[in-house]
Amino acid sequence: MLIVSKLPAEQVQPASVLGFGLDPNTDYLEGIAPLDHDLQIIVNDRMETQIPYLFAAGDIRSGSPRQIATAVGDGAAAAVSVFRFLKEISSISPNP
Ligand SMILES: Cc1cc2nc3c(=O)[nH]c(=O)nc-3n(C[C@H](O)[C@H](O)[C@H](O)COP(=O)(O)OP(=O)(O)OC[C@H]3O[C@@H](n4cnc5c(N)ncnc54)[C@H](O)[C@@H]3O)c2cc1C
Repeated sequence: MLIVSKLPAEQVQPASVLGFGLDPNTDYLEGIAPLDHDLQIIVNDRMETQIPYLFAAGDIRSGSPRQIATAVGDGAAAAVSVFRFLKEISSISPNP
């Protein structure tokens, strides 16, 4: 993340940057994916939403501790789920 400010260094207060990057960009998912009251995507512990082909991981998912370590773990869990999903649909496809 890069924060650019035109303020002189002595005028930049720590409180000025506390809110950066904390709002999830999920407006476009309203009415499509289940979102919680903070507009974060609701998933189970396998990072699956209620929509079979939609997965969410990292800060954007509901209940995320919003840490790098947990985002990485979420990504690994989501990758396994996506792999299982693709394997499942390829096994039922008439042309796998
Ligand atoms: C100021 C600040 C300090 C932090 N300090 C720490 C710390 O010290 N230690 C720590 O563990 N964590 C820290 N964090 C939290 C950490 O940065 C996040 O937990 C981590 O980056 C989450 O990774 P992510 O991949 O879920 O989301 P992000 O890193 O936010 O990545 C999401 C990406 O998706 C992109 N994107 C958004 N919307 C769309 C769209 N519609 N289409 C395509 N792309 C899109 C964004 O541009 C971004 O590149 C800090 C966060 C902030 C804001």
